[in-house]
Amino acid sequence: MPVDLELLTLGIDLGGSKILTAVVNPQGEMLSSDESITPAIKGREAIIQSILNSARRVLKLASVAISEICAIGVGAAGISNPETGILFTSPNLPRLRDVPLRDIVQEKLGKKTFLINDANAAALGELYFGAARGARNFIYITLSTGIGGGIVIDGKIYTGVIGAAGEVGHMTIDDNGPICNCGNRGCWETLASGTALAKEAKRRIKEGAKTSILDYAYGDVEKVAAQVVHAAARQGDSLAKEVIARTGYYVGVGLANLINIFNPELIVIGGGLSNIGDMLLEPAFKTAEARAYKEAFQAVHFASAELGRNSGVLGAAAFALQEMRKLPCE
Ligand SMILES: [Zn+2]
Repeated sequence: MPVDLELLTLGIDLGGSKILTAVVNPQGEMLSSDESITPAIKGREAIIQSILNSARRVLKLASVAISEICAIGVGAAGISNPETGILFTSPNLPRLRDVPLRDIVQEKLGKKTFLINDANAAALGELYFGAARGARNFIYITLSTGIGGGIVIDGKIYTGVIGAAGEVGHMTIDDNGPICNCGNRGCWETLASGTALAKEAKRRIKEGAKTSILDYAYGDVEKVAAQVVHAAARQGDSLAKEVIARTGYYVGVGLANLINIFNPELIVIGGGLSNIGDMLLEPAFKTAEARAYKEAFQAVHFASAELGRNSGVLGAAAFALQEMRKLPCE
């Protein structure tokens, strides 16, 4: 084994609602982990301080000195340029704009640091430690409140020119579709995310559709979320099943696009919405099969993400490890 496989890394996952940190060994095991709330509304300094505090806590918890860590990987929600280490913009963290996050963390903690988008980090996490081990060409997608993704080509994450690659949730599926948070219309995530599913269920309920969905939402239409619709569907509610199948159909339209563009060997699907399982994914795969090139569809496998909520923090650590292999350890 090369000596650098002995290295420990510090992974940091900066999300819109929480900060996860972990000391990770090269096998993807977490020696310690820490979770805290992202002080999103308090602003830039408070967010950076929370990251640093969490990093220091997690090192202490593992009884590891910063000098024993080879590198730090930060996976951040939003668009980050891995080359310059700048976080441009983060829809869930509007106070963070054009922040040189990599260099700040590097300077304050005194260790070589790397920055990447959180979904790209999650793709790397699955590649090194999860469902995509051994794959060379695969796409990772996370179906959640939005839709994120990561593209791995020939064993490497494809980040694009400024780090904005893999934003699969913002490919246009319906040119006249609903307005997206990004400003465009009919993005994949406006039709196939958990938020889209809940919105469609609410719309149908308000139109007076016959359904038991409200029984699972304390009778309050505003409390209808994807899990609520799923609960009703499991009890056989036909509107709930219909809304999930419709969302699955749109998941499949996006999958067909990805299959035709990338011809991947594997698509790893994660995120809370994917926990609905067959009710969502069967119509998705059926639609993808009907729409993608036959040969490309036959060549692709689908797998469920294995790392769950730790995919980002493990992926950030994996990114640091991957980048350090190019560099001498300090
Ligand atoms: Zn969009």
